[in-house]
Amino acid sequence: MNTPSPRRIVVLGAGIGGLAAAALLAQAGHDVTVLEGNDWVGGKSRRIELGGQRIDTGPSLVTFPAVWDELIRRYNALGSRGALGSRGTRGTRGGICDTGDTGDSADDLSASGLQLRRLPEVGRYFYGGQAVTLPVEEGHPWRAAWDRFDREHGGLGPQITALLTTDPLDPKTLPAVGALTRLYGTRLTTKRFLDSLTWMPEGLREVIAIHTLNAGVPPTRSLSLYASMPAVMARDGVWVPEGGINELPLALHRLALHAGATVHTGESVVSVNRSRVRTIAAEYRADLVVSSLDPGVLTRLLGDRPSRVRGLTCSGVAIYGVLDTPLPDTTATHSVVMPDDPAALHRSLAAGLAPEQTMAFVNYYRAGEIYPNEKATVAVLLTAPANGQRYDLDDPFVQREVGRISEVMGLDQPITRLLSDYTVLDPEYFAGWGATGGALYGATRPLWQSGPFHAPAYRDPRRRWLWRVGASVHPGGGIPAVLGGAMISSAMLLRSLRG
Ligand SMILES: Cc1cc2nc3c(=O)[nH]c(=O)nc-3n(C[C@H](O)[C@H](O)[C@H](O)COP(=O)(O)OP(=O)(O)OC[C@H]3O[C@@H](n4cnc5c(N)ncnc54)[C@H](O)[C@@H]3O)c2cc1C
Repeated sequence: MNTPSPRRIVVLGAGIGGLAAAALLAQAGHDVTVLEGNDWVGGKSRRIELGGQRIDTGPSLVTFPAVWDELIRRYNALGSRGALGSRGTRGTRGGICDTGDTGDSADDLSASGLQLRRLPEVGRYFYGGQAVTLPVEEGHPWRAAWDRFDREHGGLGPQITALLTTDPLDPKTLPAVGALTRLYGTRLTTKRFLDSLTWMPEGLREVIAIHTLNAGVPPTRSLSLYASMPAVMARDGVWVPEGGINELPLALHRLALHAGATVHTGESVVSVNRSRVRTIAAEYRADLVVSSLDPGVLTRLLGDRPSRVRGLTCSGVAIYGVLDTPLPDTTATHSVVMPDDPAALHRSLAAGLAPEQTMAFVNYYRAGEIYPNEKATVAVLLTAPANGQRYDLDDPFVQREVGRISEVMGLDQPITRLLSDYTVLDPEYFAGWGATGGALYGATRPLWQSGPFHAPAYRDPRRRWLWRVGASVHPGGGIPAVLGGAMISSAMLLRSLRG
């Protein structure tokens, strides 16, 4: 095998995908420049301050923490500029407890410094007048069904992690593919698979199915694999970095810089071709380009004719605020308020219309919990169609849903009335620097393209110098998929250079 000479690699976008790729490629010894249009790193994960309190907008939970461990392992293994990086320690809410890490050095911790804290539950779910915590609590009528579901699916974390982080054509994926194929058989979609579990109460089935919206699509359009996710999340935990979720892109940024990458913010890319990437201010020469941008945005920058978009994944209306009075003591860190009729929600999203009722996340952080804040903060995230529109608290959809959610959660007034400071991020905001209509995971794709044969591919078939990472490339969309996609794409790129 050849030892490749260092190449000039320009990475487009400094979200989680772009930063992860930049860290790995720079660590492999290449000359990496990251160009980010906004004036912050982290993309959808953006830290703001409201009323003197730290609030992280965008993602809130880290699932499949072994994916992060794997990223750090690969970063260390590449280590041409010195082995660095670590996940830090993981702990429970009651106090940081080391889970048996493999001997990190002081250098490692200073390079990444990410400490993941496990939440006591996946979340508290409200559906059809029922409230349930995942994992389902002792004594709940759904407990026996949950135990069975957990027995059959809860142990799939290692297999799913392998699929998230390994090139689908690598024979190493075969054991995981085999295990999953045996489990799902010909029941290819989440809906078909869950419908076949006739022993499961209908309500629990809906609670499990709603998770596919985390990838922006209904259970009729997601692979059956998604059905297993809540069980794995309950077994392996959902996590938040100590200090807030934005610590994750900040850690990636540190790893990229430590490996020698240069990161420019406020440099919006205006055109991309074989050897040159142009921003308004400058021109960068490139041997290779790695794009973490939405495919629609990249198409424009390449000067290609836009391809027809059949459908879009969902967007969101996110209200972030500071609470002068804390919520009731029983409020979970992460609550999910479901619509009475999930199928109607999926129909509205597909039609680009504001739904009558939506799925909402309510993330609640008490003063001093996870964030170094003096006051409690809350995020209310309303799933919304990717219609590029602006929303405020007076919008009828927002008012209606905030009222319903507050009532369901047992509050005696709309939660927004408890906020001393707030901001609203909406599909217009997400569309401003990202995808069409503010679609969080880009365009929808046919089922057969939501697995290993996804499109667009990691490597552009027509332009062999162009590689892709990010939420719209790796099926699944969330942080583990984005980190995994960056690992797979970067490994393929490095292999191609070795010849
Ligand atoms: C409200 C919300 C809640 C979420 N919750 C979760 C969660 O709890 N858990 C989870 O795992 N995932 C969650 N996600 C998904 C997760 O945030 C994303 O999958 C991930 O952040 C995407 O990273 P990315 O790098 O692919 O894209 P992005 O973060 O969109 O990064 C792309 C970057 O490219 C830049 N860019 C665009 N155009 C240009 C240009 N012309 N020139 C230069 N730069 C450009 C953008 O500014 C941006 O920084 C959530 C997302 C949202 C919005």
